[in-house]
Order: sequence, then structure tokens, then C-alpha cells
Amino acid sequence: MRTGFVSDELCFWHDPGNYALMLKPGGWIEPYNRHIENPDPKRRLLNLATTSGLLDQLHRLPARDATVAELERLHSAAHVAHVERTAAAGGGELGIGAPISSNGWDCARRSAGSALAAVDAVMRGTVQHAYALTRPPGHHAEPQRAMGFCIFANAALAAEHAVRHHGLQRVAILDWDVHFGNGTQACFEARADVLTLSIHQEAGYLQVRGAADEIGSGAGLGYNLNLPLPAGCGDGAYHHAFDRVLLPALDAFRPELVIVACGYDAGRFDPLGRMLLDDVSFRWMTRAAAGVAARHAQGRLVMTHEGGYCPASVPFFGLAVLEELAGVSTEVVCPFTVQHTMVPGHTLSAEQRSRIDALAAHFDDVRQRHWA
Ligand SMILES: [Zn+2]
Repeated sequence: MRTGFVSDELCFWHDPGNYALMLKPGGWIEPYNRHIENPDPKRRLLNLATTSGLLDQLHRLPARDATVAELERLHSAAHVAHVERTAAAGGGELGIGAPISSNGWDCARRSAGSALAAVDAVMRGTVQHAYALTRPPGHHAEPQRAMGFCIFANAALAAEHAVRHHGLQRVAILDWDVHFGNGTQACFEARADVLTLSIHQEAGYLQVRGAADEIGSGAGLGYNLNLPLPAGCGDGAYHHAFDRVLLPALDAFRPELVIVACGYDAGRFDPLGRMLLDDVSFRWMTRAAAGVAARHAQGRLVMTHEGGYCPASVPFFGLAVLEELAGVSTEVVCPFTVQHTMVPGHTLSAEQRSRIDALAAHFDDVRQRHWA
């Protein structure tokens, strides 16, 4: 079995409360019984992987808790203590849109630890690829604070674990969640040993920028690439962005481990994104990431599950990713595949092409100027 899979029931028990789409009920906002970041999309992915038989073809890896020392590799001691204290006091809002209940400390440590367990299995050669079904998600969590449903920076902590514990010198994090991975950027913006790339909808998360001029600082200058795309991008725009920007940058960096912050909210049904991707897209994107890993990293690829809020489509998109990783196909017929060619907007438009080509020229220049 070449593909590892980490999931843990406790991650589904993480409870951000019952806000209606992050807005506190009151006034004209009727209370709603689920938070938009609820366990359904991820639990249903696990269930589909189980009933389809795919899970039997994956190497199940036990989750573990990230230790305080592991969390403090990237997070401030004050932030880590704040999470523990808030949970012990019964829960509450940790930062900007990151509420927890009394078990939030346990869930967040288990989620981060799942990503670390995936790294350990890949680095030891137990498996070639590993997928961590992390919840709460991580890519908005900054060193000093929780944000956007994220408490600890799972993907970033995974990269740091590969550097500190396993001694790697070059790790790449590719973040295709529809929202800008501000937390991952903040963790590594002054470092050249971890290349951070985020392809996202521009202004898709209003608390942060994620602009193309944020290219890192100090020793990390040039090693942070943001690809903000206009809303409405489909398969063609993502293909062009991979071909012109992401894959050339990854191939030039030659990572020893590839980590994908794998969100599904660029899927076309997502309530928190306005892109058009589907299972066909997530399949070739997974192949592309695995290709980078094969060319430079002895195949080593770790995926952490980030956003994705449509309970109907995320399970199928996630299954497509897992099938690609494992190199197996199940009998599952994805109900969205047949619609792929019928959805308007997948063809690369002239405006999307010129935007992406301009970004490609910008990043070619950044690489020439700043990469050793
Ligand atoms: Zn997201």
C-alpha cells in the first residue's frame, strides 16, 4: 500500500458552535443549527471512502496529539496557552472567526498531530503518500493567533516537523484551498527552506490580502508566491496557473517533500468560494503534485485537509484525490463528473490568461532576483 490515511473521530467532535455563516444570530439573523465549518463534509468523505472499499486499500495510520513543544516550533507560547485556557474555561472565540468548545484544545492538538503522523510515515518510508483528514483546519492560523476556523497551522507544522525532526532542507507547501493561506505564509515568510505557494480567489477571505507582491522578507525574500485569481475561474484557468507558475516554481525549488494544503472550497458548489472546480480538476491537480514529488522528493507527498463546506460534493472530490494518490479506482460513480463538460466557465478566458501570464512574468522575475 503506497498511500497512508490518518483520521480520528475526535477531529469530528470539534465544535465551533452554531453561528449562521459566521454571523452571530440576532437582529435579522435567524439562529441556524450548524456552523458552516461543521464535520459533515469530512465525515461523509471518510464514510464514502469506507463504503466504497477504498479505505481497505489505504494504509491506516494512527493519529496522535501534537505536543506543546511541537506546536511552539511555529506558534507563540502565548497562543498555545490561550487555546488551552479558553477550552478549559468552557470554550469561546480564540481570535478572528475561530471559536472552540471545551474540547477544542484536544481536537486542535489531534488535528495537528494527524499532519505530523502523516509526515512521519512518509519520511520513514512506510508509505509514499499520506493524507491527513485534519479538522479543525490550519492554513489561516498564524504564529500568534487563530483565524478563519483554524487554530494551529497543521500544514506548516508538518513542514516544520520535516525540517526539524527529519532534517530536510527544502520543503514546499502548495495551498489550493480557495482562500489565501495567510497562516502558512506568516510562519515561513522570512525563510528560504520552506517554499510557500498559495493559489486562491482574490479577496476571498476579507481579513487578509494574499496579493502577489507579498513575496517573503529577509532570508525568505522570493520564497512566498501568491496567485490571487479572479472569482469564476474553472479548470482552464487552474491548468494555466499550474503550467505557467506553480509547476515551474516547484520544479526550480526541487523540494525534498511536497505538502499540499488540500481545500475543496474552490469546488463549484462551495458556499464560501466562487470557483468552478470539480472531481476532474482535483484529480489532475493531485497528479500534478504527485508528479513534483516523484521528480524531486522520492515521491514523498503529504496532504492536509483544509476547507470545503459543501457536504454533497466534498466527499466525491476527496475520493477522487485519494483514488489518484493510491492509484486505485473504486466503483463509485461521481455524480459531478458527467457535468464537467457542461459547466460554462472551464475554458480559459482571455482575461484569465493575461492575468496569469502577468503573474508568471512577475514570479520569473522574483525567482531570478532572489533565488540562489
Ligand atoms: Zn478555505
